[in-house]
Amino acid sequence: MPRSYVKEARKRVGPKRARIRPVIERLQEAHPDAKIALRSGDPVQLLVAVMLSAQTTDVNVNKVTPALFEKYRKPEDYLAVPPEELERDIYATGFFRQKTKSLRGTMKMLIEEFDGEVPRRVEELVRLPGVARKTANVVAAELGKPQGIAVDTHVRRLSQRLGFTRREDPVKIERDLMRLVPRPDWGRFPHLLIWHGRRVCIARRPLCEDCAISDLCPSSRV
Ligand code: SF4
Repeated sequence: MPRSYVKEARKRVGPKRARIRPVIERLQEAHPDAKIALRSGDPVQLLVAVMLSAQTTDVNVNKVTPALFEKYRKPEDYLAVPPEELERDIYATGFFRQKTKSLRGTMKMLIEEFDGEVPRRVEELVRLPGVARKTANVVAAELGKPQGIAVDTHVRRLSQRLGFTRREDPVKIERDLMRLVPRPDWGRFPHLLIWHGRRVCIARRPLCEDCAISDLCPSSRV
């Protein structure tokens, strides 16, 4: 896209600080059901589901977790079976060897350092083996204590298209978003972008003509 066009588009929609609230409100209206798609019944299950969702779809994880959570009810259960058995039980989520290693390491640390409970603080969550910042942010937000904004591929793409960030690095994108998005919205903001990204602002073919925020978007094609 030529630079002059981008500049013109930014001028047309106005500064991002003035757009962020209406964007959140309209996305909330357009996607009232936007929430985490992974199913879980307690904090340990939530952590496991988010860890398993790396490099695969939420649908895939939801197919595996009902039987998994029936068999592994507490952190000790993940350590009570040989690693190969856990590998088989999570095989369908892909990267099963690495995920088994991470799950076992995480469960061991939960037992030894956190009394078998999932910590709420992002700094503690990222100490768990195989738990990166995005996973920690998702878990903390779902447990009611968002301390950052989870940046996945949809959040990155939409934040860039909406002119909320020019960065490529997820950590820097998160920093830009934390400066812009009102703190009470940190938890639901990623879900709104994820659902909008899946349904409307699709990677290869954004449906700008059906978009509830096209007049607020510098990348709009309408
Ligand atoms: S107007 Fe188009 S590019 Fe902008 S958010 Fe909507 S679908 Fe995406």
